[in-house]
Amino acid sequence: EKRNPHEPEFLQAVHEVLESIAPVLDRYPQFVDGGILERLVEPERQILFRVPWVDDAGRLQVNRGYRVQFSSVLGPYKGGLRFHPSVNLSIIKFLGFEQIFKNALTGQGIGGAKGGSDFDPHGRSDAEAMRFCQSFMNELYRHLGEHTDVPAGDIGVGAREIGYLFGQYRKITNRHESGMFTGKGVQWGGAEVRTEATGYGAVFFAQQMLAVHSTSLDGLRVGVSGSGNVAIYAIEKAWQLGATPVTASDSSGYVVDHDGIDVDLLRHVKEVQRARIREYAAQRPSARFVEGRRPWDVPVDIAIPAATQNELDLDDAHALIANGVRAVSEGANMPSTPGAVAAFQRAGVLFGPGKAANAGGVATSALEMSQNAARQKWSFDDSERRLRSIMANVHDAAFDAAERYGHPGDYVIGANSAGFERVAHAMLAQGVI
Ligand code: NDP
Repeated sequence: EKRNPHEPEFLQAVHEVLESIAPVLDRYPQFVDGGILERLVEPERQILFRVPWVDDAGRLQVNRGYRVQFSSVLGPYKGGLRFHPSVNLSIIKFLGFEQIFKNALTGQGIGGAKGGSDFDPHGRSDAEAMRFCQSFMNELYRHLGEHTDVPAGDIGVGAREIGYLFGQYRKITNRHESGMFTGKGVQWGGAEVRTEATGYGAVFFAQQMLAVHSTSLDGLRVGVSGSGNVAIYAIEKAWQLGATPVTASDSSGYVVDHDGIDVDLLRHVKEVQRARIREYAAQRPSARFVEGRRPWDVPVDIAIPAATQNELDLDDAHALIANGVRAVSEGANMPSTPGAVAAFQRAGVLFGPGKAANAGGVATSALEMSQNAARQKWSFDDSERRLRSIMANVHDAAFDAAERYGHPGDYVIGANSAGFERVAHAMLAQGVI
């Protein structure tokens, strides 16, 4: 804490991991002797840079760019870029730290990193987004590469931004190096199902948790927050598996739709019109917009927070529990506060932490890297089948580790322990570097 003042989100993420892995450290004293923890909480490299660009009115704007390369012990650095005004070093470090264990849990060869900027893409024209992305890449390109560091999207970095970022990398380096970015358009090196993977994966994870208790999603009501990449495809998959998703939100409020969320309309409002969520309710008679609130007071069986960190607090958890929620599958990174997580677990609600439940996105990114390296293209069905099987493996790895370390059913301890074990063994084997 002394070393990282003013980094509350990073400290929160570190505490959560350290609290869960005590049984692993008891079992492997060599991890303590080898200084694994001291090394892991210090990023291998942090890059901070100026991003100057000119807006449509001809004014000079200056943003700050970040890339925190946390660990490359299992593979090239891997993790998304976030463009949002709230971005600061604490947020990027918490996301990068989480990414190490999430990526390890997928079983693939990818390290952990995260990056982004305090640039706000909302309301920016395509030309402004392009100039910003080009300036951002003018600095970051020298730290990237398919064997070095492979970014992807996150909040505020969707198809538009990824296109401009990749284009500028190609221009500067004179290399069409497909594997240096994931989430690319499917026409130019992107993988099928990457766009859908995080949202689909979070629903598959909920399905896996329910299956342990011989239940399915069929006929259940699902509450989703957010209305971006993760939320939209969580809603789509919930429908496909027989559930009814009833909410979506953004930073202005939420909509509740008693006929279930119309995915095509939601996608049109958010991706084509780039409008606020209120517009969905304006075009849908069965829906109601609730301003300035989060959707957690709506009665649901399954909750999938898919917007941002700390968006579901203790009061929200109490409201969900009182309404009979059975499972929470985190689509976003660290959306539930520590108090909310404890409340869910005390109440016997199945709780899938983001590190496990939203790992489908990065896992499919690793599949994109494989396809790029082999110059192959797998079909949608094949890719979705692989995603489903990866999510089952992630679920089982977390479930088994929780049992092994004496906390059956605790997916937080399970996910952290399983991810940490893999990273720590690799660090020991590779020496003090
Ligand atoms: P998008 O930018 O596509 O969507 C983000 C959504 O969350 C928007 O609806 C946005 O509303 C809302 N939101 C963002 N910040 C806030 C806030 N401070 N308060 C309330 N609502 C907010 O991002 P993604 O869907 O890609 O990411 C969502 C979450 O999932 C993040 O936590 C991300 O780290 C995580 N994640 C994403 C992965 C991916 O593959 N994309 C992979 C793994 C995790 P508004 O438009 O009003 O800002």
